[in-house]
Amino acid sequence: MRIERSFDVVVIGTGISGLATAYHLQRLGIQRLAIAGPNLEASATSRSAGLISGGQVDNFTRIAQAHTAERATALWRFGDAAFDALVAYLQRGGVKHLKNRRLRLLTSPSEQREAALAVAQMTANGLSAQLIATKSTDPDGLLESLQSRILGVQSDGGRGGWVDPKALLNKLQSDTATLPRLNVVQAIDDAGGAPLLRLMDGSTISCEIVVAAAHLQIRSLLPDLAPALVSFADQWLHLSLKHLPKDALGTAFSANNTHEWGVFSSPNRLRLGGARYLRPMAGIEATTPSVEPKVTAQLLATLGEMFSFAEGAKILTSHASLDINPCDELPLIGPSFGSSRILVATGFMGTGLTTGFWAGKCLADLVAYGKAPDLPRFLWPERLRTLSSS
Ligand SMILES: Cc1cc2nc3c(=O)[nH]c(=O)nc-3n(C[C@H](O)[C@H](O)[C@H](O)COP(=O)(O)OP(=O)(O)OC[C@H]3O[C@@H](n4cnc5c(N)ncnc54)[C@H](O)[C@@H]3O)c2cc1C
Repeated sequence: MRIERSFDVVVIGTGISGLATAYHLQRLGIQRLAIAGPNLEASATSRSAGLISGGQVDNFTRIAQAHTAERATALWRFGDAAFDALVAYLQRGGVKHLKNRRLRLLTSPSEQREAALAVAQMTANGLSAQLIATKSTDPDGLLESLQSRILGVQSDGGRGGWVDPKALLNKLQSDTATLPRLNVVQAIDDAGGAPLLRLMDGSTISCEIVVAAAHLQIRSLLPDLAPALVSFADQWLHLSLKHLPKDALGTAFSANNTHEWGVFSSPNRLRLGGARYLRPMAGIEATTPSVEPKVTAQLLATLGEMFSFAEGAKILTSHASLDINPCDELPLIGPSFGSSRILVATGFMGTGLTTGFWAGKCLADLVAYGKAPDLPRFLWPERLRTLSSS
């Protein structure tokens, strides 16, 4: 086999996690670095709605119940740090974005009870959350517009917002423009030494370390991880509204146990997604994305039941895409089990724009310093290592 070129690090993927890893590696002075992948349009990142938030999508209680309150707290802080780091990058680079707050709109008495527990647990663990009144003193405020479906509101503080995903990718692309670009990777050959990458154009590349940030394709590049990574379909609508309360701009929200989510992305625009709880369109293990008319109708119906200003909302565009979740619903970031030369970043549980950016910084730290203090160890793929012996 003829090896055409060799690098210290090759990052596979030109979405948020791949480009952010390359950006941070470059900042840390890593030489002989290359990025492999197709153009930006091919990424889930470019098709996302642009909602950014701190913490996690699921409420704190859900994560604490599944993984202990200690881990939920660490994961929350990880998400908050990811949000702060991304916003700082956007501000420095002049990338268009909005920052406001993160609200959970509670639609049932059981969700209200859970929110009260979540707020108590979060506060006890030093995190920011509170239950707030559904009526404000501002007659043109977002809270004043809430309809009877919303029984209560949990505010997770000021870490909510929106970024134009394509502008974010373009900025990362331009910040890494001097790095060599390689073709799509067909396979990673890892026989214990330096990994070899077989590219679609027939060439073979060797590298000391490879970062697999290839989203759904991680399953074919690293088959040991495939059983743990579940694909699913999601969709969102870009809506125009006749009127928006002035304090709504940049507010990120979820409702109905996060089954619906959205962000007010400009003075008369809302990006609204979710509602994939409708069977049989839940999208679990989907192989192709599709905009489901029944889901669209459900989203519009729930919108009208949430906000008084939603009447007359018009669909500008509809978007569908696939995402990927680890089976234990924790992001997968760190060295792959079986080979410490292969690093992985995927499974961001709905906060891919913030978590993907921060995963890139943490993986760059691992490469440069051999440790990543900001990355909780329980996110490393090693937690799934029994898969390789099955
Ligand atoms: C409908 C929908 C809406 C969403 N909205 C939001 C949102 O508003 N906010 C949010 O935070 N998250 C959102 N998400 C989640 C978010 O999009 C993802 O978590 C995130 O984009 C994943 O980033 P990534 O870099 O891991 O993957 P990607 O962005 O998909 O990047 C992977 C890259 O790898 C490349 N690649 C694949 N195979 C190979 C190969 N063999 N060789 C080389 N390159 C390869 C791909 O071409 C691509 O460039 C949404 C998800 C869906 C489905």
